Amino acid sequence: MEILRTVEELRRWSRALRYSPCAEAGRRIGLVPTMGALHSGHISLIRAARAACSHVAVSIFVNPTQFGPKEDYARYPRSFEADCALAQAEDANVVFAPSIEEMYPSGAATFVEVEGLSEHLDGRFRPGHFRGVATVVAKLFIAAEADVAFFGQKDAAQVAVLRRMTADLRLSTEIVVCPIVRDADGLALSSRNSYLSAAERAQALTLSRAVRQVESLVAQGERRAARLIAAAQKIFAAEPAVRVEFIELADWSTLEPLETAAPGALFVVAAYVGSTRLIDNAILR
Ligand code: AMP
Repeated sequence: MEILRTVEELRRWSRALRYSPCAEAGRRIGLVPTMGALHSGHISLIRAARAACSHVAVSIFVNPTQFGPKEDYARYPRSFEADCALAQAEDANVVFAPSIEEMYPSGAATFVEVEGLSEHLDGRFRPGHFRGVATVVAKLFIAAEADVAFFGQKDAAQVAVLRRMTADLRLSTEIVVCPIVRDADGLALSSRNSYLSAAERAQALTLSRAVRQVESLVAQGERRAARLIAAAQKIFAAEPAVRVEFIELADWSTLEPLETAAPGALFVVAAYVGSTRLIDNAILR
């Protein structure tokens, strides 16, 4: 497995596979964008890429532009050596790990803004977050020239923003969404779970509990957003140490709030456990 540090190296790798005279038939390049601190959620994306593609690139880049000034950019977990070992064990062909200067050259003034969607859900509470995400993912898509990129449903609003961006910019990279990987007790895996104390780890289960409760109400026929949100609020009320940021039912394409759950609607919660912000969601059937 190679470790590439520059956009030029990544582009050369991808183009050699695509255009060289001995390029294999059936060649399919998969990209798995991550911020590192890899866990089984990330691994599931690498495995999906491995299963669907002939060549797999995993990017590891803690993207400063998607963090707000008071957020956890500086203390975000970083474990590059272990990440590379995991990527190698999953048979990734390359890890792309650029510097900040490589992704944002001096004087960089170009950003990708997905209007409308970026102001909903997480974007409402994290101004500029989706602009940072869209910008870095556009840069990765352009550099890697991948056929397919793999993202987790864990960040469902991000998926909606990136689908809109890809359609609007007519980018040729297909987006594949992989299911949320959870711990045995239901907690959605997240690099930020490493911030939680043992007590907070137990409190954090409130998010998945609320999501499961809403899924089961929908399975029983409840469709009204107000009722579903109230049921989730009740679960959070039982754990006052957890501070809810938002609980919403939204259209998964536009991220606009919904009054009634239609199939494919996105139910999403964001909450603080101590100083750690966690998210969880379900796509309702
Ligand atoms: P991150 O490193 O947190 O930016 O995440 C990189 C990718 O991994 C994103 O597409 C996430 O949605 C995905 N991901 C993170 N956690 C999980 C999880 N628990 N299950 C599935 N995918 C995940």
